[in-house]
Amino acid sequence: MQYFNFCSMQDLKRRAKACKETHAHLTQAQRLDLVARRDFSFNSFNQARKLRHADIEQHVEDKNGLAVCRYCGLHFDQKSERREHFKRHEQYEEAVGQLGFQPMDYRRREDRKAAAWKQTYQAESVENKAKAYIAIFNAWFHRSIESAINHGYWRKHPDFPSYVSMMLSDYEMPAEPLAYLTDLYGVRPGHIKAGESYWYP
Ligand SMILES: [Zn+2]
Repeated sequence: MQYFNFCSMQDLKRRAKACKETHAHLTQAQRLDLVARRDFSFNSFNQARKLRHADIEQHVEDKNGLAVCRYCGLHFDQKSERREHFKRHEQYEEAVGQLGFQPMDYRRREDRKAAAWKQTYQAESVENKAKAYIAIFNAWFHRSIESAINHGYWRKHPDFPSYVSMMLSDYEMPAEPLAYLTDLYGVRPGHIKAGESYWYP
């Protein structure tokens, strides 16, 4: 089975747009066909679109009648919500491509946090306690990023070091690891409310 990913589709569309100048006599649909044949060895743009759908569908699993996407994490109804999934999947793929990483899913975040919480009191050195807090912040950071993707403001979301400095300004934790981390990351007050771990624009 052949697939056609998000970036390639963006590339195809960009090139078709550029053809406005060189192929002014063609309609947009004809320009898409031209580029699909010329640069991607497809029979038509429709073939590219079908493969793009297949690319997305390959991640979908049926779980007791409800579809789950292993890539973007959406649970949806196969019959009535395919379009919604398609849209969300595309947004997610674009964000992952630009961010350079995929947010940790719920299960992994919970596992990492559980292990890290233990370390916050079991670790013997300040450095290792601080590392445990960093692992917790990291799980929250991924949850915050995921929410930012879902709500369309991921481009503005702070990177991890900035996020940590925002968390440190109002987070209640023991003084020693707090001082250790403040040394490393600094603090940025006023960006994330006390008791919160989501960043909002
Ligand atoms: Zn998906």
